[in-house]
Amino acid sequence: MKNLSIKQRVTLYYAAVFLLITGLVIGGFYAAFGYQTNQVSQLSLERAVKNAFDFIETPGDWLEISPDFDFYVDDVTLLVYGPEGTLMLGHEPQSFPQNTALRSDEHQSIDTTLDQWQVYDLYTEYPNGLGVWVRGIHSLSSSAATLRRALITMLLAMPLLILFALLLGYRVTRRAFTPIEKIQQTARAIERDRDLSRRINLPSERIDELSLLGSTFDDLFDQLETAFNREKQFTSDVSHELRTPISVIISQAEFGLDHPDDPALREQSLQAILQQSRQMSQLVTHLLELSRAARGADLMHPEPINLAELCEMVAEELAEKAAEHDIRIIQKLDPDIVLTLDQTQMVRALINLMQNGIEHGHAGGFIMLDLQRRLNAVHLIVSDDGHGIPVEHLPHIFDRFYQVDTARTARQNGNSGLGLTMVRQIIENHGGTIEVQSTEGVGSTFTIILPDQPSDEPV
Ligand code: ADP
Repeated sequence: MKNLSIKQRVTLYYAAVFLLITGLVIGGFYAAFGYQTNQVSQLSLERAVKNAFDFIETPGDWLEISPDFDFYVDDVTLLVYGPEGTLMLGHEPQSFPQNTALRSDEHQSIDTTLDQWQVYDLYTEYPNGLGVWVRGIHSLSSSAATLRRALITMLLAMPLLILFALLLGYRVTRRAFTPIEKIQQTARAIERDRDLSRRINLPSERIDELSLLGSTFDDLFDQLETAFNREKQFTSDVSHELRTPISVIISQAEFGLDHPDDPALREQSLQAILQQSRQMSQLVTHLLELSRAARGADLMHPEPINLAELCEMVAEELAEKAAEHDIRIIQKLDPDIVLTLDQTQMVRALINLMQNGIEHGHAGGFIMLDLQRRLNAVHLIVSDDGHGIPVEHLPHIFDRFYQVDTARTARQNGNSGLGLTMVRQIIENHGGTIEVQSTEGVGSTFTIILPDQPSDEPV
């Protein structure tokens, strides 16, 4: 039983239940039919015996039995006995036990090896003092035989019924299990061919637990495929990003080595190598930060933070850099907003947004930090009046390694195109979202929306 498939087990259970029910129905039928036959024979027996007295009269001090007295009525043999039990009229059926005691108004069942009898006796005493017994005997052999024949027919039909139950059960379970087979085949094909694009695709007209399971698996495969492709893309992006500085380093080193006698050229090569190495180091730092942010919840240390104080802290940290670019930092902060956040991550996100604002701003311009409650959310808005982002780039700026500026200019600033990806990851770690609005030549606005929660509940 243990090694049987679920399909076989269900089929067997199905057949067993089917048989049990059939057995119960046959048993019940047999018992009910037997009881009914018995009842009917008792009634007709009693009636025949009682009717027999209509043909017995006592005109004087003797008994007179009418010539119409019938000794065989409705399968009942009638006998007349004297008060002492002496057979006066009628013939006992063959094989009926002769010494069967007379018992007035009582039904007796008598089994012999040859037959089965139902007996009913009635004694009546007439006013002239004469008494008489009438006995009715009914042989159950014919109804018992009918019953036995019916039972044998049913028992003979049993193997056919079992076969029918097994076939029907197997058909039903096979149909029910088709989606599971399809799920299994798809999973196996994905594993065998390493092809995550396969889907189960169960017919949509069928909506039951298994079709829901199938579509859940398809959704899961979708997610796995997206995640897998993203990882592949990421590896290729990282390799691509590292290849450029590495080839510059190699060519500059070769160039330096080719000019041993020219200290100025060697110095130039070394400077180029240093710059590219710093850029690589920056890139690796950004990658590490991004991977830390991506591990999100694992590495978070949430604590109640006053967001206005956090903004002021970041603004102070970037004040010098902003002053270098002649950019003012304006703050419009609601002082009473306390959220449970990971301070390190939030500071990193805010620094990134403000640094972008400084880098892409213009002298005499500003960066504004606006913190406010709106409905059930906290809005932290970082806006600037810099050169803005062209509309065609807006949908991509949160993608990894995506940069609006020409690659050369951006790389030279030590930027990697990972900043906004990390900012979004951090905000999502806190259950929030980030939106951007920007107009070329006017400025950009990044809006962080965080769920507003009591400070004792983690975000
Ligand atoms: P990077 O590290 O190169 O700055 P980010 O992911 O931070 O990468 O930004 C992606 C791109 O979005 C940048 O190349 C930049 O051109 C653009 N960008 C980001 N913030 C601003 C801003 N405040 N103003 C204009 N452009 C911006």
